[in-house]
Amino acid sequence: MSGRPLLNRRLEGHGTTIFAEMSALAVETGAINLGQGFPDTDGPEEIREAAVRALRDGRGNQYPPGPGVPELRNAVAAHQRRFYGLDFDPGTEVLVTAGATEAIAAAMLALLEPGDEVIAFEPFYDSYAACVAMAGARRVPLTLRAPSFRPDLDELRARITPRTRLLLLNTPHNPTGMVLTAEERDAIAALAVEHDLLVVTDEVYEHLVFGGEHVPLIALPGMRERTVSISSAGKTFSFTGWKVGWVTASAALVAAVRTAKQYLTYVSAGPFQYAVAEALALPDAYFTGIREDLRARRDLLADGLADSGFEVYRPQGTYFVTTDVTPLGERDGFAFCRALPGRCGVVAVPNAVFYDTPGTGRTQVRFTFCKREEVLREAVTRLKRLAP
Ligand SMILES: *Cc1c(COP(=O)(O)O)cnc(C)c1O
Repeated sequence: MSGRPLLNRRLEGHGTTIFAEMSALAVETGAINLGQGFPDTDGPEEIREAAVRALRDGRGNQYPPGPGVPELRNAVAAHQRRFYGLDFDPGTEVLVTAGATEAIAAAMLALLEPGDEVIAFEPFYDSYAACVAMAGARRVPLTLRAPSFRPDLDELRARITPRTRLLLLNTPHNPTGMVLTAEERDAIAALAVEHDLLVVTDEVYEHLVFGGEHVPLIALPGMRERTVSISSAGKTFSFTGWKVGWVTASAALVAAVRTAKQYLTYVSAGPFQYAVAEALALPDAYFTGIREDLRARRDLLADGLADSGFEVYRPQGTYFVTTDVTPLGERDGFAFCRALPGRCGVVAVPNAVFYDTPGTGRTQVRFTFCKREEVLREAVTRLKRLAP
């Protein structure tokens, strides 16, 4: 073989994710894994049964339609109407994807030209950087700073250049738990309209909001024709392994995203699509229930971390709480996370991996609270060993 690197230059630096390293460490040491955000209990029994029924009845065992099964597209449209008063045509304005991850990838590959700039909140969800890179575009961070992690809208304005094509926005935001306010949504939408930008919104935590209110940016004036709204069943229904996601957008944007999507997976998760259609139609009590249940777990972990000496940034949404380890006498989140399983049998993730800007987030560490209460209680007991 020639000396040329096998991995192409676009993917340079996107090696193994931190989750692989930290989850391996958890397995090796038997530590409680609060690094990766997946629930340790499955979603509603009746939805699991719906998937079994679909399999048995032979629904979705062969390639489903490219845009998704009609039952799920109808259910997504009904969900957008029920929760946000938004109307989408299930025939042309809804696209089912292999999780939100594929929707993000397809949107980047479809909508970007090499050299385009994409502004995204930093710290980033880790697939954003790789997808923007695969599209040959350039990511431009808008740093969310502790303690509030509110976006600085003057800074956003300053980051927009003639090369800016797209805003890639995540609210509720992983890992900080920030939820955009009405004023922020208005200001961001006004900037998008003024500069004629496309907007891709990652809303996978739309139902996991404990403070403030989630409103899709696509609902705002001038946004309907420029926004690709992305969500997924994984977080809302605690079935992260099913990988059923969706896009709602104008027919023109859906057609563009579908063009890329059809050559990635073409289709996926046939029987699960029928089950998720049923999940989206669950009564309001389900959606309130999961939120309140998770709020209690957030408080359990956040209080425990504070008692152990962490600075805690209590999240308004998502599965995650970001902390700062400086009060524990620590200066480096990486070193802290590598040592933590040995010190007290818990795994967390250093937020520095979610930042581009050198030096930012160095002392931040993220914990997930989407685990059973007894697991969180045990983790809190163990973390108390750190208390100064
Ligand atoms: C978990 C997560 C995703 C991935 O969603 P899937 O439906 O599992 O692909 C996307 N964005 C954010 C911010 C996430 O936390």
